[in-house]
Amino acid sequence: MIQNKVEQHVIQTLEKLRSHFPEFCGCEVCQADVLVYALNRLPARYVASKAGTVITELNLDKDQMRAAIDVAVMEGVRRVSRSPRCGRDPAMPK
Ligand SMILES: [Zn+2]
Repeated sequence: MIQNKVEQHVIQTLEKLRSHFPEFCGCEVCQADVLVYALNRLPARYVASKAGTVITELNLDKDQMRAAIDVAVMEGVRRVSRSPRCGRDPAMPK
């Protein structure tokens, strides 16, 4: 089984940052759009694991990578908040 470690980080980062963006809808559609946006802009880091094994090792090689993930997720949240595909009213800048 092959997993992209960056994907796990992006999901965790979105969880962590969501509370800072009250205008973010946060429904399944919008969350998926943010994940797709961020993942398409980040290099993948694949690891192989046995089926059913939970990968708990989440160290990324570089802080740089971590920062890049934060930035990509925040950009994604802002973009999706401006034009949510789920039909929610776009967030107006305050
Ligand atoms: Zn939504």
